[in-house]
Amino acid sequence: MNRCPSISAVLTDNSGTEKPETDGYLNARPPVHTAPTRETKLPDMPDRSQDSPFSTRKVGMVSLGCPKALVDSERILTRLRAEGYDFAPDYAGADAVIVNTCGFLDSARAESLDAIGEALAENGKVIVTGCLGADPAFITGQHPRVLAVTGPQQYEQVMEAVRAAAPVAPNPLVDLVPPQGLKLTPRHYAWLKISEGCNHKCAFCIIPQLRGPLASRPVHAVLREAEKLAEAGVRELLVISQDTSAYGRDLRHPSHPWRGRERRTHVQDLAEGLASLGLWTRLHYIYPYKHVDALIPLMCRTSGEDAPAGLLPYLDIPFQHSHPEVLRRMRRPAASEDTLERLAAWRAINPDLVVRSTFIVGFPGETEAEFQHLLDWMEAAQLDRVGCFKYENVVGAPSRDLPDHVPEEVKEARHARFMEAAQRISAAKLAAKVGTRAWAVVDEIDEDGDAVARTASDAPEIDGNVFVDGEDRDFEVGEMIRVEITDASEYDLFARRV
Ligand code: SF4
Repeated sequence: MNRCPSISAVLTDNSGTEKPETDGYLNARPPVHTAPTRETKLPDMPDRSQDSPFSTRKVGMVSLGCPKALVDSERILTRLRAEGYDFAPDYAGADAVIVNTCGFLDSARAESLDAIGEALAENGKVIVTGCLGADPAFITGQHPRVLAVTGPQQYEQVMEAVRAAAPVAPNPLVDLVPPQGLKLTPRHYAWLKISEGCNHKCAFCIIPQLRGPLASRPVHAVLREAEKLAEAGVRELLVISQDTSAYGRDLRHPSHPWRGRERRTHVQDLAEGLASLGLWTRLHYIYPYKHVDALIPLMCRTSGEDAPAGLLPYLDIPFQHSHPEVLRRMRRPAASEDTLERLAAWRAINPDLVVRSTFIVGFPGETEAEFQHLLDWMEAAQLDRVGCFKYENVVGAPSRDLPDHVPEEVKEARHARFMEAAQRISAAKLAAKVGTRAWAVVDEIDEDGDAVARTASDAPEIDGNVFVDGEDRDFEVGEMIRVEITDASEYDLFARRV
């Protein structure tokens, strides 16, 4: 299968880490406050155009941005399939190309403009959607030939533009859409988006401008979607939003019936409902508010003999910094919380708890003392998984106008010092696991028959892996296996099946 030229490029995140080429044709680049760069394959879908007696039209898609944008791409693909469209693996075979853009960082905006230009040059019929589409004049000013520009979640407008660009004849095969929609992730895990937008005003972020205020989905709708995913074979749910701990606040937490009980549109009732499905469930983008304490007792244990099930002892908390003054300048939510105290209390309730986070170094005005506070906090917090970004200006973000921007070489040096500390902590934590046993889920099987798997401590495409020796024993993707850890590196584990 040919690939779009765009995906031949090697992606680079701002930590300087090179990402390898992929076989897929959709790439996703994260905003600074979320996950590392990830690449995603198209869903495994047959090309029906060869054997269909009906004419079909093909749409190509280039997807940039964070997991939330990826979910938007999935929804657009699902709608397209429902209306009888097929998908083109390259520009030449597409009747139209959708570019789902990211507008979070200046570099992401530039990357999005490049992707639009490439699609115009290679195909000509280009529909732009996503975060950058919230500012249509910016796009049409650079690329006046685009057919349509729509903002994030404007699925119907995207569909209208596709119908106009590539009208499709009625096709009785449209009901082949699987009930759970089409997933861009492997069949055994799925992202579950519970809300859109954000009510915070972090100084470095323009997501509230791009995506609007918090808009939560009703709890029964989210739980029903989770049920459908479970029925379709999904074994792991990754709950995402801009602020999962604020879920339902915009609606004032109304209750809805689900499985014979009233459930509030609130993170606790949502977590309880999801936990009852028995799937691995991870909470991403949680802030350390007091009410999050009540989630910890809902979490399962991962250190026992039985395979873990339900809400995993895993929290993804974008701390971004530790120093109160920096957090105040950043205008971060939960900035006044004593996070070390909170982490200690949570770990006392569930010692298996794993915490991952992201940080920004070199925020405007960050002094050496404030940065050292962050390094000291890191030593005390002993987080399990950590990502770090050098501060970058974003058009429209208030932090651009703050005084005392940190010189690039200082940011670079602080990033290196931070990563050295984070690697050391991670390596020590993983080394302590050597000789222990764990449950792991198989994500891939390589050409030697070895399994690329993950323990419950690691989110897919974000955290580390456990590489399990095949030893002539067959693995299945999505299978839960028991392993003994035999070795560890800074970020990954090595194991044998037991
Ligand atoms: S919490 Fe802050 S960084 Fe995250 S989306 Fe909201 S404003 Fe942006």
